[in-house]
Amino acid sequence: MANMLSLPQRNEATICREGLHVSVPQHHASPAPEVVRRIIHVDMDAFYASVEQRDNAELRGKPVAVGGSKLRGVVAAASYEARRFGVRSAMPSVTAKRKCAELIFVKPRFEVYTAVSRQIRDIFSDYTDLVEPLSLDEAYLDVTDLRGAASATEIAETIRARIRAETGLTASAGVSYNKFLAKIASDYRKPDGLYVITPRMGPAFVEALLVGKFHGVGPATAQRMQRLGLETGHDIKLQSLEFLQQHFGKAGAYYYSIARGVCHRQVKPHRVRKSVGAERTFFSDLYTFGSAQEALQEVLDKVWRHCEQAGLRARTLTLKVKYSDFQQITRSRTGEAPLASRSEIEQISSTLLAPIFPLAKSIRLLGVSLSSFANAGEASADHEQLALTL
Ligand SMILES: [Mg+2]
Repeated sequence: MANMLSLPQRNEATICREGLHVSVPQHHASPAPEVVRRIIHVDMDAFYASVEQRDNAELRGKPVAVGGSKLRGVVAAASYEARRFGVRSAMPSVTAKRKCAELIFVKPRFEVYTAVSRQIRDIFSDYTDLVEPLSLDEAYLDVTDLRGAASATEIAETIRARIRAETGLTASAGVSYNKFLAKIASDYRKPDGLYVITPRMGPAFVEALLVGKFHGVGPATAQRMQRLGLETGHDIKLQSLEFLQQHFGKAGAYYYSIARGVCHRQVKPHRVRKSVGAERTFFSDLYTFGSAQEALQEVLDKVWRHCEQAGLRARTLTLKVKYSDFQQITRSRTGEAPLASRSEIEQISSTLLAPIFPLAKSIRLLGVSLSSFANAGEASADHEQLALTL
């Protein structure tokens, strides 16, 4: 079955994350920077799971998965103890249990994660306004223009120490001269680590890197690269720009650059996500309510998983139906409170879907999107500012 996903947004550049297309604004016309930039990427270690272990002593030192244990449940985060068994985030809970029999499932508490996220963003803002959050638990900071004697590495260490002191949690940080390398660096000494990639080290570092470790290269792209014999940054560097564009379209130019340790993407402080959606076109049309409901499950999984991981709390659900004659209708519902669970969005989409049956013509596409984002547990006065930083 064809699987189409889209996230409407302005200035779209599509990167792949967990099979969902997430659009982020891109600055095409950014001039080559004259100064060497100083970028820090801060990333909390096993964030949701660490918060749960912090707040419940019985979970400490044990394999913990945050997420639902039910049939359709998915692991949102795994403690390091669970990771040792091969449990990973986005893994179906059933698979996770098979890998680790003593795995403890804990229900997510987003209001707590959001509050911690708020704490760490407050810490970041003490150093720079150029903070670009990627999710509740990670962000890029551009400290290039900071006055004073502190190096980017010193700032990163101070931030890590403050996060530990103020939240009781550990974060890893990467320091480098661009976003791509800073993100890679933060992953390099995880957990509770700091790593610096200097301009001198950058090119060699990327050459040795496996393509699967490239941020922005999802598992599907990594496989395509491997089929082309591209295993490392070095392999990509040996290819021409034309070759990469021919095989990877627009992303080809990006791969060409990052294989050389070059990335001009700027740290963009105000990123507003308006909606997150997924849709699916079917090889054979759907005729019954039951089959449409069943077909929606995968779409709901993807949308919910993304919002859950990104900490996005939506109040509006929109269902899109395209008929065999390409006529399209949408039905939406906005609630008072953010949609709080996978089963809630399933229930609402079923409620919106039901009245269109019986059908006059068959269905060729179904889509679901979530919008009207707010942050769980936030006072309304904080809403606007927080929405801007998401
Ligand atoms: Mg993290």
